[in-house]
Amino acid sequence: MEKGIIGSLLNQPASESAGTGRKEIELQVKVIPPRECPRCGNGVLHRHGTVSKRRVLDAFLDGHWIYLSWIPLRLRCTRCRKTFLCRPAGVRPWSRLTDRAIRTMVEYSRRMSYTSTAELLQLDRHRVRRVILKYVEPNILPEQGQPVVLTLDELSFSRHDYMSMAGELAPTRRVLSLLDNDLMRTIEGYLRYLKDSGVVVEAFVIDMKDSWRKAVKRVFPQAKVVVDPFHVVQDANRRLDECRKIEQEAYKTDIPRYPLLKPREKLTPKQVQQLEVVRRKFPALYELYQLKEELRDILRERDVERAREKIYWWLVAADTAANAEGRVWANTIRSWREEILNLIYFTAQGRRYTNGYIEGKITVAKMIKRLGFGFRNRQSFLKRAFIGCCPRSVIPQLLT
Ligand SMILES: [Zn+2]
Repeated sequence: MEKGIIGSLLNQPASESAGTGRKEIELQVKVIPPRECPRCGNGVLHRHGTVSKRRVLDAFLDGHWIYLSWIPLRLRCTRCRKTFLCRPAGVRPWSRLTDRAIRTMVEYSRRMSYTSTAELLQLDRHRVRRVILKYVEPNILPEQGQPVVLTLDELSFSRHDYMSMAGELAPTRRVLSLLDNDLMRTIEGYLRYLKDSGVVVEAFVIDMKDSWRKAVKRVFPQAKVVVDPFHVVQDANRRLDECRKIEQEAYKTDIPRYPLLKPREKLTPKQVQQLEVVRRKFPALYELYQLKEELRDILRERDVERAREKIYWWLVAADTAANAEGRVWANTIRSWREEILNLIYFTAQGRRYTNGYIEGKITVAKMIKRLGFGFRNRQSFLKRAFIGCCPRSVIPQLLT
């Protein structure tokens, strides 16, 4: 039945359809009966009853929808008595659209709101929305059998309401799935689903969340967990800024923020001077600043043994820092030491794995949220964001 479509191309010259004033083009096709019974292989099939003509949306061409129409064939096998309803390939049983029409709506929805898509395709926006909700499955399975590098990050749906995005960094870079929330059982459930599907994980990039690390290690004990370097620096800056505010309170004086938080190599001459003032007036704070810069240096290291040694000395310095935050910080870095070294391990092989790619996709998802003026429905946002993050070539894989 898959190939059973002959274009008996009875193309009607565009006729004005009643009321709308819009031109409709109908393509009539003939359904070819299968040669044998799909169930028992018997070669004799009889026509069984008549069915009325069916018409579905097919292709959008030059501002017009082309309808596909056919007379369904009802056949009955003489041996097993089963009846079949034959239809052209690419049409689902009760759908009013062909697969091509569904793909068209999904492609338009990648970068547009339902309203804009509906307007361009001359359809009702609720219909577009229903199609996306019904047919898009926001999930792709990575390669099975060969080792993959995965990553996980969260994206906010609304305040205090998060979703999670899973991606693959190697061998193919792509978004894999959008999960409805960021609860541990959801994430672990997803990881188990990957494992059960035969996915072999070589490395897993995450930010400094202990619960995520535990989940990855439980499900994929062989995987090397890699910490995302941007999050390590972000965490460093957060600590530094907290201490800056405390000193500022204590001394009732302003301590400039940017000279401390900006990467050293990007400071302006004025900021270098401001930093010098901090060094003289607030030595304990300056000590934390130096720890931050040294940590950045470690993250850029390309040799595992040298990084190990640098981390050792860094921990000694942090543990003995004048500011008590140094010890707290040291404990965190000590806890993530192996994951930092894993980052260096892959960097040394010319494979730098970070969350940068998935964060770019999260930015795309946020853009889609703005285009839709926010989403009330989670599933709706999930699916729209997912198709927006996937390249066009992947779309057929997403349709259920
Ligand atoms: Zn049969």
